[in-house]
Amino acid sequence: MTSHQNLAARDQACLWHPYTQMLNEPPPLEVVRGAGVYLHTADGRRVLDGVSSWWVNIHGHAHPALNAALARQAGELEHVIFAGCTHPPAVELAERLVALLPGGLTRVFYSDNGSTAVEVALKLAWQYWQNRGEPERRTFVALDHAYHGDTVGAMSVSAASSFTAPFEPLLFPVVRVHDPYCHRCPVGLDRKRCRIDCLASLEARLAELGPQAAGVLVEPMLQGVGGMIVWPQEFLAGVRSLCDRYGTLMIADEVLTGFGRTGRMFACEHAGVAPDVICLSKGLTAGYLPLAATVASEPIYEAFLSEDRRLAFFHGHSYTANPLACAVGVASLDLFRDEGVLERIGRLEAQLRSGLEPLRRLPHVGDVRVIGGVGAVELATDADTAEHGADGGYFDRIGPRLSDAFLRRGLLLRPLGNVLYFMPPYVISDTEAAWALDTIATVLGNLDEL
Ligand code: PLP
Repeated sequence: MTSHQNLAARDQACLWHPYTQMLNEPPPLEVVRGAGVYLHTADGRRVLDGVSSWWVNIHGHAHPALNAALARQAGELEHVIFAGCTHPPAVELAERLVALLPGGLTRVFYSDNGSTAVEVALKLAWQYWQNRGEPERRTFVALDHAYHGDTVGAMSVSAASSFTAPFEPLLFPVVRVHDPYCHRCPVGLDRKRCRIDCLASLEARLAELGPQAAGVLVEPMLQGVGGMIVWPQEFLAGVRSLCDRYGTLMIADEVLTGFGRTGRMFACEHAGVAPDVICLSKGLTAGYLPLAATVASEPIYEAFLSEDRRLAFFHGHSYTANPLACAVGVASLDLFRDEGVLERIGRLEAQLRSGLEPLRRLPHVGDVRVIGGVGAVELATDADTAEHGADGGYFDRIGPRLSDAFLRRGLLLRPLGNVLYFMPPYVISDTEAAWALDTIATVLGNLDEL
């Protein structure tokens, strides 16, 4: 009997998985090995990872260069406290990030996942205004359909949904404004004729808040969990100029979009803007280890420099700047530099467009959205005839049925309810991507049979 046998039974007896606790949930996929874009299961199947393992994997599973970097670092230093100590991988990764990031983002604060990157950004902004003598700036502005993580602060800035409902009394109040969800335009216009009119909602709220606005938080160009909503870049440019006009901080949550996912190294580049604070995680270690970075501008950093220790930023996690994770992060940036990764994403984007755009003609397809290495198909649902609820179509029953249909064909996809998306590791070959796109077209073309 191998150690893989009875994995599902042992798993079900002792584990508590995120997001999947329905009594009728199918058992988890028993994955024992990964290589390139494929996951290999205990029962000998090969499944294409069409969600990049929750959007983290970029260069493929078990990449030899990343494995080597990890092994090398494990032989040197696995971990050390990062308060009062430093180490080469943390310094090198920070220097490399600062060189790549939009101008002005110069100070790297490490933590260990996307939600903590956001928590750090919120706390930094909040204390920054106090340290600067403007403590009345204590209201954050965030967008409809936003998702920033599952910790309490990150949930507060996320849009209200069934994810956040049980915790509602714990959350701090946030001013909510329109996002540019063009397919369901919040101001009832058509993208071809609109002049980014949805931005007026942010402008109005900032004008009302005046000197109380602490910062505006956005997921630039692509709102992920909210439904793979792709933005016109003019909206992003508009957010930056409104933050400037009203003297508040722009915080870019690039936890998903960072490291090439939208076709640029960072999504803010689409509009040529630099935020005051950026949150990074997921692709930072190419999907190997938990690490995050919240990178701030020099003026923000300087507001914490003082002989008065009470002005310091008292935030730290046990695994802050873990050397193994930092070393893999550096090796991942080497791959971007040496292997034409962004060009590859450009070709993948073209392939996603030509594979998915024709699906608009299918009766159930409401919208097709593509940016960089992400392609999404929003299905019209029965709920479309009624009002689209606060959760969008997240609980639409089509999601699990689609997942099953794709898994049976060897493709791992996890639709966000009625929004089916494909977000593979960038190393996917043309042939593998063509197969996945054909499979998507076949399943969506026969939706009535599911
Ligand atoms: N911010 C964004 C934009 C995300 O998409 C996510 C996760 O999907 C997070 C934050 C939270 O990241 P994590 O799951 O690593 O806490």
